[in-house]
Amino acid sequence: MKRSNVKKVLIANRGEIAVRILRACKDLGIQTVAVHSTADAEAMHVRLADESVCIGPPQPRESYLNIPSIISAACVSGADAIHPGFGFLSENSTFSHMVEEHGLIFIGPKADHIAMMGDKIMAKKTFARLGLPTVPGSDGAVTNVNKALKMADEMGYPVLIKAAGGGGGRGMKVARSRSEFTEAYETARQEAGISFGNNQVYLEKYLTAPRHIEFQIIADQFGNAVHLGERDCSLQRRNQKVWEEAVSLVLTPKFRDVFGGKIAEAVGRLGYSGAGTLEFLYENGELYFIEMNTRIQVEHPITEVITGIDIVREQILIAGGNKLSLTQNDVTFKGHAIECRINAENSETFIPSAGTINNYHCPGGPGVRVDSALYDGCKVPPYYDSLISKLIVHANDREQCLARLRRALREYVIDGVDTLIPLHMRLANNPDIIAGNFDIHFLERLHENK
Ligand code: ADP
Repeated sequence: MKRSNVKKVLIANRGEIAVRILRACKDLGIQTVAVHSTADAEAMHVRLADESVCIGPPQPRESYLNIPSIISAACVSGADAIHPGFGFLSENSTFSHMVEEHGLIFIGPKADHIAMMGDKIMAKKTFARLGLPTVPGSDGAVTNVNKALKMADEMGYPVLIKAAGGGGGRGMKVARSRSEFTEAYETARQEAGISFGNNQVYLEKYLTAPRHIEFQIIADQFGNAVHLGERDCSLQRRNQKVWEEAVSLVLTPKFRDVFGGKIAEAVGRLGYSGAGTLEFLYENGELYFIEMNTRIQVEHPITEVITGIDIVREQILIAGGNKLSLTQNDVTFKGHAIECRINAENSETFIPSAGTINNYHCPGGPGVRVDSALYDGCKVPPYYDSLISKLIVHANDREQCLARLRRALREYVIDGVDTLIPLHMRLANNPDIIAGNFDIHFLERLHENK
């Protein structure tokens, strides 16, 4: 069995991803330390960890974003590594730097790669230089409204104004025509400054009917990098993913091999280490890079079930200084997988819902995996992201996968809060989804036409 140099991991997160990381640690024989806010004292990640430390009050900035508290918890508990999960501090290069300054291992890429990819302008430039196609747009930041307008006229409308520091589907404004441009530009700059502390914006051609396709990569500290294929995450609401599939219906195996190979080579040349995801938009048979996420993604399980590779385990081993345990030839893709994000939100209005779960029944059976931190009687606090569970279904082909998904959704009972289960049920029965006809605007169109 592969041994890890890491002996005790502090998990700087909550909810299902904290439980997911904890499970990978247990499988590797690694001790776990949970951190939690006062609102999460009874949470599942706290119950399953070997030790736990309360790091502050419910508000994220006082607990899960509180760097001194988290680093102190790691030092006091004798952890030798910190896994940041996703969200919270996962893409904060200052945090990863401070973790290393304290002699702890940050389970993720190096701070300078996090910073580089956190600036979306820099990320695009970097991968363009490394030979990947990017969405056409301005060459870097635009700072002058008249120059920006001229550039938009040349590109042709619609044009998208994006924040260099944007994330989570926020920080984007579409200008559908010349008359909309100036206002969209000014609003985008202002909002970017307020939300991300960086008012740099850039322009991109707004693609009207693309798919969102992303490639998972893993790379070690010795320049070895492999790709684990792609995920189609086109079903989104307000630019946030709701349903993901692997593999995508539009890439051929040949295309996947060749393009995935190019990506792995680029990532290897960059000297990147850890897990990462390169996001692309797909239109007219071409993929165009938009950004890279330097952390584990919410939707990583669909890649795990079709490849049989435990990505979180690989993250921990890589951070501990191990070489990649596989080569590109070891990576094969079996069947089809779909993940439904079960958010505690109203299925019609998407308004978040908090409360106590008073009846919980989790689906099971062939091909069903549920990543959640829910249990009968647990609380869904109002302070955090509304993702409470992920239903992941796997089968030999997409048709069987959809049948299993419908079966699992019917079995799933979560009483006490609103959830997206009814929405997923509608999607799993929708003729266009069944036929694979969708792009990134599908969900919004569906909502408007109701
Ligand atoms: P974030 O970092 O906020 O997730 P991304 O750049 O990854 O931002 O974009 C999020 C989503 O916004 C994409 O999945 C896609 O649906 C939409 N989007 C981004 N860029 C474009 C574009 N140039 N044209 C059309 N849609 C886009």
